[in-house]
Amino acid sequence: MKLHAIQTGSVRIKMAQVQGRGRGLRRRLGVFGDDQWTAWLPTYAWVIDHPEGVIVVDTGQGTHLLQSVHSLHPYMRWQVMFQIEPEQEIGPQLHGLGIGARDVQRVVLTHLHCDHDGGLAHFPHSEILVSRGELSAASGWAGRLRGYLPHRWPSWFNPAALDLASEAFGPFATSRRLTTAGDVIAVGTPGHTAHHVSVVVEDQGTRYLLAGDASYTERLMLAGQIDGVSADDEVASATLRAIRDFAMDRPTVYLPTHDPASAERLAQSR
Ligand SMILES: [Zn+2]
Repeated sequence: MKLHAIQTGSVRIKMAQVQGRGRGLRRRLGVFGDDQWTAWLPTYAWVIDHPEGVIVVDTGQGTHLLQSVHSLHPYMRWQVMFQIEPEQEIGPQLHGLGIGARDVQRVVLTHLHCDHDGGLAHFPHSEILVSRGELSAASGWAGRLRGYLPHRWPSWFNPAALDLASEAFGPFATSRRLTTAGDVIAVGTPGHTAHHVSVVVEDQGTRYLLAGDASYTERLMLAGQIDGVSADDEVASATLRAIRDFAMDRPTVYLPTHDPASAERLAQSR
C-alpha cells in the first residue's frame, strides 16, 4: 500500500475560522468580523494505492473556485480566496502518478465543502461515498445558503450513502470498514460539519488519519481548539478529544487537509 498527498492549489481564509474565538454563535459570526487572513494554506487530497484498488479521499479544489470573487454568497465572496491552476487539479496529478480515472475504484469525501468536492469531475467511473447527512445538508437551495456549491457537482453525481455503523473504532463512536482487509476505515468525526468523516489507514503498524477539516492543523487538534465554523462546541471538542486519544494509543500520522506540515509528516511518517 502507498499513500500519496496531492496538493490541489491553495486557499486563504480568516484567522478566526482556523481557530474559533469565544463560543457558539459569537464564535461563528467572528469569522465575518475578522479582517486577518491566514497565509496561503495547501489544500490536499489523498490517494491510497491499495491492493484492492485505488481509493481517493477528497478531490480538492477545481479551477471553478476562482469565480468565487463574483459569488453572491457572503462567505464565498468575502471570507475565502483560492489559487489553483488547471494542471493542479487532481485528475492531471493522478495521471502524473500513472493512475487513470478508471483505476480509481472509490472516492470518499470527508465532507462536501467546495475545496473537498471541487475535483469530482475527474471521477465519472468511480463509486463515490458521502455520508448521508452531509449530502442532505449540502443539497439544493438550503445547501447553497449554507455555502455549499451543489450546482457545481457534475450532472452524473449520485453518491452512495456512507452510513457509519454504530460500531466503535477506538475512541470513535461510529465507523465502517472500506476494504476487505479492514485496513482502511471511515470514522465519524463530527464538528466542522455535523456529518464529517475521517479515514484511517493502517499500514505496517502505523496509522494514518486523513482528517479532512476535523482541525486545520495538528497543533490546534492537540490544543483542543475548535474552528470558527463548527456548529456545536461540545461535539467539535469531543471529536478533537477522540483524535488525541486515538493518537495516544499507537503511532499515528495526523493529516488534516490544510495543514502546511501534512505532506512532510506523511513523508517522514511522523
Ligand atoms: Zn471544510
